[in-house]
Amino acid sequence: MTHKIAFIGLGNMGGGMAANQAKAGHTVQAFDLSPAALDRAVAAGCVAVDSVAEAVRDADIVITMLPAGPHVLSVYSEQIISTAPKTALLLDCSTIDVDTARKVAGLAKDAGYAFADAPVSGGTVAADAGTLAFMVGCDEADFARVEPALEPMSRVTMRAGDHGAGQAAKICNNMILGITMIGTCEAVALAEKLGLDPVKFFDIASKSSGQSWSVSSYYPWPGPVPTAPSNRNYDGGFATAMMLKDLKLAQDAAAKSGASTPLGAQSEALFQLFDRLGYGGRDFSAILQMLRGQLDQLPK
Ligand code: NAD
Repeated sequence: MTHKIAFIGLGNMGGGMAANQAKAGHTVQAFDLSPAALDRAVAAGCVAVDSVAEAVRDADIVITMLPAGPHVLSVYSEQIISTAPKTALLLDCSTIDVDTARKVAGLAKDAGYAFADAPVSGGTVAADAGTLAFMVGCDEADFARVEPALEPMSRVTMRAGDHGAGQAAKICNNMILGITMIGTCEAVALAEKLGLDPVKFFDIASKSSGQSWSVSSYYPWPGPVPTAPSNRNYDGGFATAMMLKDLKLAQDAAAKSGASTPLGAQSEALFQLFDRLGYGGRDFSAILQMLRGQLDQLPK
């Protein structure tokens, strides 16, 4: 069954996601403030429209992939809610704070819509390939509609709980990632100082209790994991600025909820420093070079 999908936000992530919906045979009515992003979406099979209102007016499904909470709140409260048909399924795939996600869900629900926060893990490669992992917060009864709507963009779709739970899962997951990457980089830097070959250390740690995704799938030293950004001078991948955004969301949530997250706070401070030094656009695993004292060899 094909649908009319309104897709708002066609940037690094949304561009590939919208393309996969078009590839699956759906009519994708696409809108972005950036004309260049819109042109790329048209080249990928989407139909460009002139406004959010025009995109959503007759949509079966509305998908948003926007930078941050304020964008999501304003686009939903001012442009989507009340303009989209009440039967439309509203899906926000952006990474935003839990409070804003719950606020938008409340506005949508009060207006009679089914809404889900559905942030993603996987980055631009998975967005282009249609292999993202979705973490969903929605009413239990709505999940049966949410899962097939995300299917052309997804490798796996998991319901985390009610509204906001998808965002909670995303920021907690990325806090683990930030912490384990710092730990991995510290261990690699120490191994090197001790005269242990970091490639040999990979062979050992990836088969021992030091193993994590940061070690086995994203090793920050070139060689052992060919797809890791360390092999291309940390170009592309998951930008430090993006990791910092997610760690700040985690720390804000920890402060508000009273959770104790000292290592999350430390990793935020370290990525903040790395960002301030001018490396916000480099992959986050490049923080290894700061810990090794080798920033002079790393392009900004
Ligand atoms: P991006 O900046 O490339 O894209 C965002 C797009 O939204 C831009 O094209 C921008 O013009 C558009 N936009 C902003 N305000 C708008 C509005 N009012 N109406 C219409 N369009 C508007 O960002 P991205 O990398 O695609 O990330 C999008 C979201 O996905 C973020 O919340 C990010 O945290 C999350 N995310 C990103 C990655 C990643 O690796 N890039 C991975 C997982 C999650």
